[in-house]
Amino acid sequence: MRMRKLSITATVLAGVAGLTGGLTATAAHAAEPLPESGGTYRISSHAGGALQWDGPRNGAQVRVKEGNETLTEQTWTVTDDGTGNWSVRIPRTNYAVDRDLGNNSVAAWNDIGRANQRWWLQNLSGSRAWLLHSSDRTGGDTCLTRLPDQGTAARPCNAGDAAQQWNLDKTTAQPPTPTVPVTLQMVNAGGYDPNALRSWFDKSRGLLQDQYGKIKQFMTGGAYEVKPGINVVFDAGHPSFSSPGVAAVFDPNPKPQYNNEKSIVLRPDYVMRNQGDTGSLIHELTHQVQDAANGGWLNEGQADYYRKYVFNVKEKPGLDRIRGTDYDRGYDSTAFLLNYIAHKHPAGESIIQKINNEVRRQGFGADGDRVLTAITGKGGRQWWTEMWNDIQASPTRWTNPAFRD
Ligand SMILES: [Zn+2]
Repeated sequence: MRMRKLSITATVLAGVAGLTGGLTATAAHAAEPLPESGGTYRISSHAGGALQWDGPRNGAQVRVKEGNETLTEQTWTVTDDGTGNWSVRIPRTNYAVDRDLGNNSVAAWNDIGRANQRWWLQNLSGSRAWLLHSSDRTGGDTCLTRLPDQGTAARPCNAGDAAQQWNLDKTTAQPPTPTVPVTLQMVNAGGYDPNALRSWFDKSRGLLQDQYGKIKQFMTGGAYEVKPGINVVFDAGHPSFSSPGVAAVFDPNPKPQYNNEKSIVLRPDYVMRNQGDTGSLIHELTHQVQDAANGGWLNEGQADYYRKYVFNVKEKPGLDRIRGTDYDRGYDSTAFLLNYIAHKHPAGESIIQKINNEVRRQGFGADGDRVLTAITGKGGRQWWTEMWNDIQASPTRWTNPAFRD
Protein backbone atom coordinates (compact mmCIF):
# COMPACT_ATOMS: atom_id res chain seq x y z
CA MET A 1 0.00 0.00 0.00
CA ARG A 2 2.71 2.39 1.07
CA MET A 3 4.92 1.50 -1.86
CA ARG A 4 2.04 1.94 -4.24
CA LYS A 5 1.29 5.40 -2.95
CA LEU A 6 4.92 6.43 -3.25
CA SER A 7 5.13 5.26 -6.81
CA ILE A 8 1.97 7.16 -7.76
CA THR A 9 3.40 10.34 -6.24
CA ALA A 10 6.62 9.79 -8.16
CA THR A 11 4.64 9.47 -11.38
CA VAL A 12 2.92 12.77 -10.75
CA LEU A 13 6.22 14.44 -9.91
CA ALA A 14 7.70 13.25 -13.16
CA GLY A 15 4.69 14.64 -14.97
CA VAL A 16 4.98 17.95 -13.18
CA ALA A 17 8.71 18.25 -13.86
CA GLY A 18 8.23 17.43 -17.50
CA LEU A 19 5.42 19.87 -17.97
CA THR A 20 6.22 22.90 -15.88
CA GLY A 21 9.54 23.26 -14.11
CA GLY A 22 9.29 24.85 -10.70
CA LEU A 23 6.16 23.10 -9.52
CA THR A 24 7.93 20.02 -8.25
CA ALA A 25 8.72 21.46 -4.85
CA THR A 26 5.05 22.24 -4.25
CA ALA A 27 3.95 18.76 -5.22
CA ALA A 28 6.76 17.10 -3.30
CA HIS A 29 5.51 18.63 -0.08
CA ALA A 30 1.91 17.91 -0.85
CA ALA A 31 -0.15 17.99 2.31
CA GLU A 32 -3.17 16.33 0.77
CA PRO A 33 -2.92 12.69 -0.30
CA LEU A 34 -3.84 11.95 -3.90
CA PRO A 35 -7.40 10.76 -4.34
CA GLU A 36 -8.00 7.04 -4.44
CA SER A 37 -7.93 6.06 -8.10
CA GLY A 38 -11.40 4.86 -9.09
CA GLY A 39 -12.95 6.53 -6.05
CA THR A 40 -15.98 8.80 -6.17
CA TYR A 41 -15.51 12.39 -5.00
CA ARG A 42 -17.28 15.70 -4.61
CA ILE A 43 -15.27 18.47 -6.24
CA SER A 44 -15.99 21.83 -4.66
CA SER A 45 -14.67 25.21 -5.68
CA HIS A 46 -12.88 27.63 -3.38
CA ALA A 47 -14.89 30.29 -5.21
CA GLY A 48 -18.14 28.60 -4.13
CA GLY A 49 -20.33 25.69 -5.23
CA ALA A 50 -19.59 22.16 -6.41
CA LEU A 51 -18.89 20.70 -9.83
CA GLN A 52 -22.09 19.23 -11.25
CA TRP A 53 -22.88 17.23 -14.38
CA ASP A 54 -26.01 17.72 -16.45
CA GLY A 55 -26.44 14.17 -17.72
CA PRO A 56 -24.61 11.18 -19.17
CA ARG A 57 -24.45 12.28 -22.79
CA ASN A 58 -22.01 13.87 -25.19
CA GLY A 59 -21.72 17.62 -24.81
CA ALA A 60 -23.56 17.73 -21.48
CA GLN A 61 -22.72 20.83 -19.48
CA VAL A 62 -20.39 20.75 -16.50
CA ARG A 63 -21.33 23.60 -14.19
CA VAL A 64 -20.77 24.76 -10.66
CA LYS A 65 -23.88 24.69 -8.52
CA GLU A 66 -24.62 25.25 -4.87
CA GLY A 67 -23.03 22.37 -2.94
CA ASN A 68 -25.57 19.67 -2.08
CA GLU A 69 -24.30 16.48 -0.52
CA THR A 70 -27.36 14.45 -1.46
CA LEU A 71 -27.04 15.14 -5.19
CA THR A 72 -25.68 12.27 -7.27
CA GLU A 73 -25.01 14.86 -9.99
CA GLN A 74 -22.32 16.34 -7.79
CA THR A 75 -20.29 13.14 -7.58
CA TRP A 76 -17.44 12.22 -9.91
CA THR A 77 -15.30 9.14 -10.31
CA VAL A 78 -11.63 10.10 -10.57
CA THR A 79 -9.19 7.60 -12.02
CA ASP A 80 -5.45 7.71 -12.59
CA ASP A 81 -4.83 6.24 -16.04
CA GLY A 82 -1.48 4.91 -14.82
CA THR A 83 0.59 7.89 -15.94
CA GLY A 84 -0.44 10.44 -13.31
CA ASN A 85 -3.11 11.81 -15.61
CA TRP A 86 -6.64 11.50 -14.27
CA SER A 87 -10.05 11.10 -15.81
CA VAL A 88 -12.96 12.80 -14.05
CA ARG A 89 -16.05 10.85 -15.02
CA ILE A 90 -19.76 10.75 -14.32
CA PRO A 91 -20.01 7.74 -11.98
CA ARG A 92 -20.64 4.35 -13.62
CA THR A 93 -20.42 5.87 -17.10
CA ASN A 94 -17.70 6.57 -19.65
CA TYR A 95 -18.47 10.30 -19.81
CA ALA A 96 -15.47 12.35 -18.78
CA VAL A 97 -14.78 16.04 -18.17
CA ASP A 98 -13.39 17.02 -21.55
CA ARG A 99 -11.65 20.21 -22.61
CA ASP A 100 -12.45 21.54 -26.09
CA LEU A 101 -9.06 22.43 -27.54
CA GLY A 102 -10.66 24.98 -29.86
CA ASN A 103 -12.37 27.27 -27.38
CA ASN A 104 -11.27 25.80 -24.02
CA SER A 105 -14.85 25.12 -22.97
CA VAL A 106 -15.45 22.11 -20.73
CA ALA A 107 -18.23 19.52 -21.06
CA ALA A 108 -18.89 15.78 -20.60
CA TRP A 109 -17.89 13.61 -23.55
CA ASN A 110 -17.42 9.91 -24.14
CA ASP A 111 -13.94 9.08 -22.84
CA ILE A 112 -11.66 7.85 -25.59
CA GLY A 113 -8.50 8.37 -23.59
CA ARG A 114 -7.29 11.56 -25.23
CA ALA A 115 -5.08 14.01 -23.33
CA ASN A 116 -7.77 16.67 -23.45
CA GLN A 117 -9.88 14.27 -21.35
CA ARG A 118 -7.19 13.98 -18.68
CA TRP A 119 -6.11 16.24 -15.82
CA TRP A 120 -3.06 16.12 -13.62
CA LEU A 121 -3.39 17.13 -10.01
CA GLN A 122 -1.30 19.73 -8.23
CA ASN A 123 -1.87 20.11 -4.50
CA LEU A 124 -1.26 23.66 -3.28
CA SER A 125 1.21 23.98 -0.46
CA GLY A 126 -0.38 24.19 2.97
CA SER A 127 -3.86 23.78 1.51
CA ARG A 128 -6.39 21.08 0.75
CA ALA A 129 -6.88 22.63 -2.68
CA TRP A 130 -5.92 21.05 -5.98
CA LEU A 131 -5.35 22.59 -9.35
CA LEU A 132 -6.61 20.37 -12.18
CA HIS A 133 -4.18 20.96 -15.03
CA SER A 134 -5.27 19.91 -18.49
CA SER A 135 -2.99 17.06 -19.62
CA ASP A 136 -3.11 18.48 -23.13
CA ARG A 137 -0.59 21.32 -23.37
CA THR A 138 -2.14 22.85 -26.49
CA GLY A 139 -2.19 26.60 -25.90
CA GLY A 140 -0.02 26.36 -22.76
CA ASP A 141 -0.69 25.19 -19.22
CA THR A 142 -4.42 25.48 -18.54
CA CYS A 143 -6.47 24.56 -15.47
CA LEU A 144 -10.08 23.74 -14.75
CA THR A 145 -11.68 27.06 -13.81
CA ARG A 146 -14.99 28.12 -12.32
CA LEU A 147 -16.40 31.00 -14.35
CA PRO A 148 -18.31 33.92 -12.78
CA ASP A 149 -21.53 32.69 -14.47
CA GLN A 150 -21.02 29.26 -12.79
CA GLY A 151 -19.95 27.63 -16.02
CA THR A 152 -16.53 25.97 -16.30
CA ALA A 153 -13.65 26.33 -18.73
CA ALA A 154 -9.93 25.75 -19.06
CA ARG A 155 -7.97 28.94 -18.40
CA PRO A 156 -4.23 29.68 -18.03
CA CYS A 157 -3.18 28.27 -14.68
CA ASN A 158 -2.87 30.64 -11.77
CA ALA A 159 -2.36 28.95 -8.42
CA GLY A 160 -3.52 32.08 -6.60
CA ASP A 161 -6.94 32.12 -8.27
CA ALA A 162 -9.65 30.67 -6.00
CA ALA A 163 -11.69 29.85 -9.11
CA GLN A 164 -9.02 27.25 -10.01
CA GLN A 165 -8.79 25.75 -6.53
CA TRP A 166 -10.85 22.63 -5.89
CA ASN A 167 -11.29 20.39 -2.89
CA LEU A 168 -11.79 16.70 -3.49
CA ASP A 169 -13.92 15.03 -0.83
CA LYS A 170 -14.56 11.32 -1.02
CA THR A 171 -18.25 10.46 -0.99
CA THR A 172 -19.15 7.93 1.63
CA ALA A 173 -22.57 6.74 0.51
CA GLN A 174 -22.63 5.37 -3.02
CA PRO A 175 -25.99 5.71 -4.71
CA PRO A 176 -27.50 2.22 -4.90
CA THR A 177 -27.49 0.46 -8.26
CA PRO A 178 -31.14 -0.03 -9.16
CA THR A 179 -32.13 -3.63 -9.77
CA VAL A 180 -33.28 -4.10 -13.33
CA PRO A 181 -36.83 -5.51 -13.53
CA VAL A 182 -37.09 -8.90 -15.22
CA THR A 183 -40.42 -10.08 -16.57
CA LEU A 184 -41.40 -13.50 -17.91
CA GLN A 185 -44.09 -14.34 -20.43
CA MET A 186 -45.34 -17.79 -21.32
CA VAL A 187 -46.65 -17.40 -24.88
CA ASN A 188 -46.23 -20.95 -26.19
CA ALA A 189 -44.72 -23.65 -23.96
CA GLY A 190 -44.38 -26.00 -26.91
CA GLY A 191 -46.14 -28.82 -25.06
CA TYR A 192 -43.87 -28.64 -22.01
CA ASP A 193 -45.04 -27.99 -18.46
CA PRO A 194 -45.13 -24.19 -18.04
CA ASN A 195 -44.35 -24.59 -14.36
CA ALA A 196 -41.15 -26.47 -15.13
CA LEU A 197 -40.11 -23.72 -17.53
CA ARG A 198 -40.97 -21.04 -14.97
CA SER A 199 -39.01 -22.79 -12.29
CA TRP A 200 -35.96 -23.04 -14.56
CA PHE A 201 -36.31 -19.36 -15.34
CA ASP A 202 -36.64 -18.33 -11.69
CA LYS A 203 -33.18 -19.78 -11.06
CA SER A 204 -31.75 -17.63 -13.87
CA ARG A 205 -33.40 -14.34 -12.92
CA GLY A 206 -30.65 -13.26 -10.51
CA LEU A 207 -27.99 -14.15 -13.08
CA LEU A 208 -29.63 -11.90 -15.67
CA GLN A 209 -29.86 -9.02 -13.20
CA ASP A 210 -26.25 -9.43 -12.14
CA GLN A 211 -24.90 -9.80 -15.66
CA TYR A 212 -26.90 -6.96 -17.19
CA GLY A 213 -24.83 -4.26 -15.48
CA LYS A 214 -21.59 -6.10 -16.20
CA ILE A 215 -22.38 -6.56 -19.88
CA LYS A 216 -23.42 -2.92 -20.15
CA GLN A 217 -20.15 -1.78 -18.64
CA PHE A 218 -18.08 -4.15 -20.77
CA MET A 219 -19.83 -3.52 -24.07
CA THR A 220 -20.78 0.17 -23.88
CA GLY A 221 -18.78 1.79 -21.07
CA GLY A 222 -21.87 3.99 -20.70
CA ALA A 223 -21.62 5.40 -24.22
CA TYR A 224 -25.37 5.02 -24.65
CA GLU A 225 -28.38 4.10 -22.60
CA VAL A 226 -29.84 0.62 -22.82
CA LYS A 227 -33.35 -0.63 -22.15
CA PRO A 228 -33.98 -0.51 -18.38
CA GLY A 229 -35.74 -3.88 -18.20
CA ILE A 230 -35.44 -7.46 -19.40
CA ASN A 231 -38.42 -9.30 -20.89
CA VAL A 232 -38.01 -13.03 -21.37
CA VAL A 233 -40.54 -15.00 -23.41
CA PHE A 234 -41.06 -18.72 -23.89
CA ASP A 235 -42.50 -19.02 -27.38
CA ALA A 236 -42.15 -22.27 -29.28
CA GLY A 237 -43.88 -20.55 -32.20
CA HIS A 238 -41.31 -17.82 -32.80
CA PRO A 239 -40.45 -17.81 -36.53
CA SER A 240 -36.71 -18.17 -35.82
CA PHE A 241 -37.38 -21.57 -34.24
CA SER A 242 -38.48 -23.07 -37.57
CA SER A 243 -34.73 -23.55 -37.90
CA PRO A 244 -33.97 -26.49 -35.59
CA GLY A 245 -30.53 -25.23 -34.48
CA VAL A 246 -31.78 -22.01 -32.95
CA ALA A 247 -32.05 -22.20 -29.15
CA ALA A 248 -32.84 -18.59 -28.33
CA VAL A 249 -33.15 -15.26 -30.08
CA PHE A 250 -33.20 -11.60 -29.22
CA ASP A 251 -36.24 -10.12 -30.94
CA PRO A 252 -35.66 -6.38 -31.49
CA ASN A 253 -39.16 -5.82 -32.88
CA PRO A 254 -41.64 -5.09 -30.09
CA LYS A 255 -44.78 -7.23 -30.50
CA PRO A 256 -48.12 -6.96 -28.69
CA GLN A 257 -47.86 -10.54 -27.45
CA TYR A 258 -44.42 -9.70 -26.01
CA ASN A 259 -45.67 -6.71 -23.97
CA ASN A 260 -44.54 -4.49 -26.87
CA GLU A 261 -41.00 -4.92 -25.66
CA LYS A 262 -37.78 -5.97 -27.29
CA SER A 263 -37.48 -9.47 -25.83
CA ILE A 264 -35.27 -12.47 -25.27
CA VAL A 265 -37.23 -15.37 -26.72
CA LEU A 266 -36.43 -18.90 -25.57
CA ARG A 267 -37.20 -22.22 -27.23
CA PRO A 268 -38.92 -24.41 -24.62
CA ASP A 269 -37.61 -27.76 -25.86
CA TYR A 270 -34.03 -26.49 -25.92
CA VAL A 271 -34.31 -25.19 -22.36
CA MET A 272 -35.83 -28.44 -21.08
CA ARG A 273 -33.15 -30.55 -22.76
CA ASN A 274 -30.24 -28.24 -21.76
CA GLN A 275 -31.17 -27.03 -18.30
CA GLY A 276 -27.59 -26.21 -17.34
CA ASP A 277 -27.06 -23.88 -20.28
CA THR A 278 -27.06 -20.25 -19.20
CA GLY A 279 -24.60 -19.21 -21.91
CA SER A 280 -27.30 -18.76 -24.54
CA LEU A 281 -29.19 -16.43 -22.17
CA ILE A 282 -26.03 -14.37 -21.78
CA HIS A 283 -25.51 -14.29 -25.55
CA GLU A 284 -29.02 -12.92 -26.11
CA LEU A 285 -28.71 -10.50 -23.21
CA THR A 286 -25.56 -9.16 -24.89
CA HIS A 287 -27.62 -8.55 -28.03
CA GLN A 288 -30.06 -6.53 -25.93
CA VAL A 289 -27.16 -4.40 -24.68
CA GLN A 290 -25.76 -4.03 -28.20
CA ASP A 291 -29.14 -2.62 -29.22
CA ALA A 292 -27.87 -2.56 -32.78
CA ALA A 293 -29.91 -1.83 -35.85
CA ASN A 294 -27.49 -3.93 -37.85
CA GLY A 295 -24.21 -5.65 -37.16
CA GLY A 296 -24.50 -9.16 -38.54
CA TRP A 297 -21.54 -11.44 -38.04
CA LEU A 298 -19.59 -8.90 -36.00
CA ASN A 299 -22.39 -8.64 -33.42
CA GLU A 300 -22.71 -12.42 -33.27
CA GLY A 301 -18.97 -12.63 -32.68
CA GLN A 302 -19.11 -10.03 -29.93
CA ALA A 303 -22.04 -11.70 -28.20
CA ASP A 304 -20.12 -14.97 -28.23
CA TYR A 305 -16.95 -13.18 -27.08
CA TYR A 306 -18.74 -11.94 -23.98
CA ARG A 307 -20.35 -15.32 -23.45
CA LYS A 308 -17.25 -17.48 -23.95
CA TYR A 309 -14.26 -15.29 -23.12
CA VAL A 310 -15.73 -13.20 -20.31
CA PHE A 311 -18.75 -14.96 -18.78
CA ASN A 312 -17.73 -18.61 -19.03
CA VAL A 313 -14.24 -19.25 -20.35
CA LYS A 314 -14.88 -22.99 -20.29
CA GLU A 315 -16.89 -22.41 -23.48
CA LYS A 316 -13.98 -20.85 -25.37
CA PRO A 317 -13.72 -22.38 -28.82
CA GLY A 318 -10.55 -24.30 -29.60
CA LEU A 319 -8.69 -24.21 -32.89
CA ASP A 320 -10.53 -27.29 -34.11
CA ARG A 321 -13.77 -25.32 -34.08
CA ILE A 322 -12.21 -22.46 -36.07
CA ARG A 323 -10.12 -24.20 -38.69
CA GLY A 324 -11.71 -24.16 -42.12
CA THR A 325 -14.17 -21.41 -41.18
CA ASP A 326 -13.89 -17.69 -41.91
CA TYR A 327 -13.77 -14.43 -40.02
CA ASP A 328 -17.31 -13.43 -40.96
CA ARG A 329 -19.10 -16.56 -39.75
CA GLY A 330 -19.97 -14.88 -36.44
CA TYR A 331 -20.15 -16.94 -33.22
CA ASP A 332 -17.03 -19.03 -32.46
CA SER A 333 -15.07 -17.90 -35.51
CA THR A 334 -15.51 -14.16 -35.03
CA ALA A 335 -15.20 -14.41 -31.24
CA PHE A 336 -11.86 -16.25 -31.69
CA LEU A 337 -10.70 -13.50 -34.06
CA LEU A 338 -11.83 -10.76 -31.64
CA ASN A 339 -9.76 -12.41 -28.91
CA TYR A 340 -6.77 -12.33 -31.25
CA ILE A 341 -7.38 -8.65 -32.07
CA ALA A 342 -7.67 -7.85 -28.35
CA HIS A 343 -4.20 -9.34 -27.87
CA LYS A 344 -2.63 -7.56 -30.80
CA HIS A 345 -4.21 -4.12 -30.69
CA PRO A 346 -2.78 -1.51 -28.29
CA ALA A 347 -6.30 -0.87 -26.91
CA GLY A 348 -6.38 -4.45 -25.57
CA GLU A 349 -9.72 -5.91 -24.62
CA SER A 350 -11.35 -2.46 -24.62
CA ILE A 351 -11.27 -2.77 -28.40
CA ILE A 352 -14.44 -4.89 -28.06
CA GLN A 353 -16.28 -1.93 -26.50
CA LYS A 354 -15.01 0.46 -29.17
CA ILE A 355 -16.18 -1.91 -31.90
CA ASN A 356 -19.58 -2.32 -30.26
CA ASN A 357 -20.10 1.42 -29.86
CA GLU A 358 -19.15 1.97 -33.48
CA VAL A 359 -21.60 -0.67 -34.74
CA ARG A 360 -24.36 1.02 -32.81
CA ARG A 361 -23.32 4.46 -34.00
CA GLN A 362 -23.43 3.33 -37.65
CA GLY A 363 -26.99 2.03 -37.20
CA PHE A 364 -28.65 0.42 -40.21
CA GLY A 365 -25.62 1.13 -42.37
CA ALA A 366 -23.25 -0.82 -40.11
CA ASP A 367 -20.95 -3.18 -41.96
CA GLY A 368 -18.61 -5.47 -40.04
CA ASP A 369 -15.54 -4.92 -42.18
CA ARG A 370 -16.02 -1.17 -42.30
CA VAL A 371 -16.40 -1.04 -38.51
CA LEU A 372 -13.27 -3.17 -37.96
CA THR A 373 -11.28 -1.00 -40.34
CA ALA A 374 -12.48 2.22 -38.70
CA ILE A 375 -11.67 1.04 -35.20
CA THR A 376 -8.63 -1.23 -35.65
CA GLY A 377 -7.17 -0.03 -38.94
CA LYS A 378 -7.59 -3.45 -40.57
CA GLY A 379 -10.51 -5.32 -42.06
CA GLY A 380 -11.59 -8.85 -41.07
CA ARG A 381 -9.75 -10.57 -43.92
CA GLN A 382 -6.43 -8.98 -43.02
CA TRP A 383 -6.78 -9.82 -39.31
CA TRP A 384 -7.79 -13.38 -40.14
CA THR A 385 -4.75 -13.88 -42.38
CA GLU A 386 -2.40 -12.44 -39.79
CA MET A 387 -3.95 -14.64 -37.11
CA TRP A 388 -3.37 -17.82 -39.09
CA ASN A 389 0.19 -16.77 -39.86
CA ASP A 390 0.77 -16.35 -36.13
CA ILE A 391 -0.88 -19.67 -35.36
CA GLN A 392 1.38 -21.41 -37.89
CA ALA A 393 4.46 -19.69 -36.49
CA SER A 394 3.64 -20.49 -32.87
CA PRO A 395 0.66 -22.78 -32.49
CA THR A 396 0.87 -23.25 -28.72
CA ARG A 397 0.52 -19.54 -28.02
CA TRP A 398 -2.80 -19.34 -29.80
CA THR A 399 -4.18 -22.68 -28.72
CA ASN A 400 -3.57 -22.30 -25.00
CA PRO A 401 -7.04 -22.85 -23.54
CA ALA A 402 -6.25 -20.65 -20.53
CA PHE A 403 -5.37 -17.70 -22.69
CA ARG A 404 -7.59 -14.65 -22.62
CA ASP A 405 -6.04 -11.68 -20.93
ZN1 LIG B 1 -26.85 -14.03 -31.58
